[in-house]
Amino acid sequence: MSRFTPNNAQSCPQVLCIDRTPYLAVAIDTPLRQVFDYRAPADTSVLAGCRVWVPFGRRRVVGVVVEGRDQTEVPANKLRAAFEVVDTEPTFSPDLLALLTWAAEYYRHPVGEVLTSAMPVLLRSGAPIREEQILWRLTALGREEALAKLPARSIRLRAIADYLSKNEHAPASEILGATESPLSALRNLEERGFVEQFAREQTDEIPPVSVMREGPPLNEAQAAAVERIQKTLGTFASHLLYGVTGSGKTEVYLQVIESVLARGQQVLVLVPEIALTPQLIGRFRGRFDAPLAVLHSGLNDTERLAAWRDAREGTARIVIGTRSAIFTPLLHPGLIIIDEEHDASFKQQDGFRYSARDLALVRAQRLGIPVVLGSATPSLETLARARKQPETLSHLPYRAGSAKPPQVALVDLRKHGVTQGIATPTVMTIQRHLDAGGQVMLFINRRGYAPVLFCPNCGWSAHCRRCDAHLTVHARGRDLICHHCGSQENLPNECPTCFADVKPVGQGTERIEEALQQLFTAPMARIDRDSMRRKGELEETLARVNRGEIRILVGTQMLTKGHDFPKVTLVVVLNADQGLFSTDFRAPERLAQTIVQVAGRAGRADRPGEVLIQTEYPEHPLLTLLLTGGYAAFADGALTEREQSGWPPFARIALLRAEATDQQAPLKFLQDAHDLAVDFPVRGVKLLGPAPAPMERRAGRFRAQLLIRAPSHSPLQKFLGGWLPLLPMLPEARRVRWSIDVDAAELS
Ligand code: ADP
Ligand code: ZN
Ligand code: ZN
Repeated sequence: MSRFTPNNAQSCPQVLCIDRTPYLAVAIDTPLRQVFDYRAPADTSVLAGCRVWVPFGRRRVVGVVVEGRDQTEVPANKLRAAFEVVDTEPTFSPDLLALLTWAAEYYRHPVGEVLTSAMPVLLRSGAPIREEQILWRLTALGREEALAKLPARSIRLRAIADYLSKNEHAPASEILGATESPLSALRNLEERGFVEQFAREQTDEIPPVSVMREGPPLNEAQAAAVERIQKTLGTFASHLLYGVTGSGKTEVYLQVIESVLARGQQVLVLVPEIALTPQLIGRFRGRFDAPLAVLHSGLNDTERLAAWRDAREGTARIVIGTRSAIFTPLLHPGLIIIDEEHDASFKQQDGFRYSARDLALVRAQRLGIPVVLGSATPSLETLARARKQPETLSHLPYRAGSAKPPQVALVDLRKHGVTQGIATPTVMTIQRHLDAGGQVMLFINRRGYAPVLFCPNCGWSAHCRRCDAHLTVHARGRDLICHHCGSQENLPNECPTCFADVKPVGQGTERIEEALQQLFTAPMARIDRDSMRRKGELEETLARVNRGEIRILVGTQMLTKGHDFPKVTLVVVLNADQGLFSTDFRAPERLAQTIVQVAGRAGRADRPGEVLIQTEYPEHPLLTLLLTGGYAAFADGALTEREQSGWPPFARIALLRAEATDQQAPLKFLQDAHDLAVDFPVRGVKLLGPAPAPMERRAGRFRAQLLIRAPSHSPLQKFLGGWLPLLPMLPEARRVRWSIDVDAAELS
């Protein structure tokens, strides 16, 4: 795990206070992988991390000063001068600037794009970080003489002086409104030297924090975890809080947060995209009487800037957000928490492809603060690291309170009658739970009605015109939608080639819901991206579930993230088989995580839970391991396999992707790139491919990939450092769109 050693950290540029260096190195939002030198504006000192307006081509753009330079290699006649500095204080603090430049280098992404993506949108166009408030107050002279010297008939002037003698300071609008005066009156007083204006200074004092409500007394495992984490406050440590669903991980976070707040520090909490729910936020608000900044996708630009600023100025004591919140500036950082650290949404899959989880470790290490990764199903990377440092691993093996672990059983789809994807024993078990007053949750990893539209007569099936994929039947069979490019078509009445009747094959959430409605009379709801489009709809449905008004719940992954369903007694995984035979080495891990996470939704309160997993491969080792030994047994097996076959976490990978409208260009580009690698031999680095992507055509573009595998971090970085800069020079480079994905999470 060399990536997080201080050695690597030193490769980033030293962050300097630039006091009138003649030149500035400026990062600009462009795909060009470089910084640009400018002459510093005259008579201004600039700090690294400040934004500046600079000429760029024919445009005037906002850039970020990365460092000051005493010399430049740009010839004098080409060198342009920066126009003006936007910030009086750096937008990026030295620690954040260093993290981001490090990340740009590590992920091999243009530094200008990296810095831009880490800024709230408004700041990218040069808006001030804070609208400075201009206030008016009496001068010393004004306090002594104004009321004595102003003539009695100057009613308005006297009114203003009087108002300001009673109110220490106020904005012009307030003064003029209260005294019914024109602005000229205020100016008149200013000319006489009685009043002055000033910009409001930033208050540095941190509002007091009090705990609002005591949590439950911790059980032994929780208390041990809290103590272990608390001991490391003020130093770097990466903790894994490995606790089954409902074991009280959130309670542990809350207790540790309390200590951090008591130290006058801030806490950054990252959660998966779907999990940022009012339920979770409510839990934090309910516990602490501390200002909270929530960075979620529903914020408009102004709200986002305000939340960012509150974090930066230390006003917000707890900052909760999704992936990109890892770049939130913090005045007094004390702790970073990554909840559900295994979740795929922490990895950005396009543009600046970074892992917020991995960057959290880097950031925490640079800041000298602990980071807590929490999960019931830790990623194999995190698990492998924790096993090397047992003192950072905290286990919560039991459910908190009185909840018992659920009973898990497999349903063999080959042995039983199956109607619309639901096997007979499953139907009987659902009925039993409904009769006993329980709630039932069914999970299927596919939205829509059916994944395929098929002609039984000639074998035709509906394909997307732009992707190598089937179109999914939607809205109870009225639409065909491509889940990869979004193309939409009307559902044909008959087969376009032989005119026979066509039929939907397989199940999605809509069809399962339809089947359940035919089988049961209990009230039900469906939760997926299609049914929960309207704002607030998800919350409303979840509330109805928790009030017991809904007895059967069917849905996609949306069900697995962060929701607490205390009344659910039965969870059914309708199809565990997708993922059992995938070519992606991470597919089994993802499948195991999903199954365990869904299963964990059963029986969270005092009712015992039951879990049914439907499969056609009940003897598959992954399923038997999960069933007999739980996630830990699965992880042991999977780690051994990864070690033997040389995959992460026992190796490092990067994926070079290329795509074009022409089928051959991407493969040709990657082949040339592959051949070029011969010139950069680095021990242990191997190239696999090129090969077409598992789904070669998507949205009308052909895609191919080349995998780079190295035994560890440094050979990989060394290789990429020599090889990547030459790729733009390859003849095919102009004909394809290419990108590099360091530590790629998905091989597609
Ligand atoms: P997780 O985050 O691991 O899923 P939670 O922290 O949400 O678990 O806890 C699950 C449930 O158990 C919650 O309702 C929580 O209030 C309750 N709980 C947690 N810790 C305790 C405890 N020590 N005693 C009693 N109840 C607890
Ligand atoms: Zn046909
Ligand atoms: Zn498509």
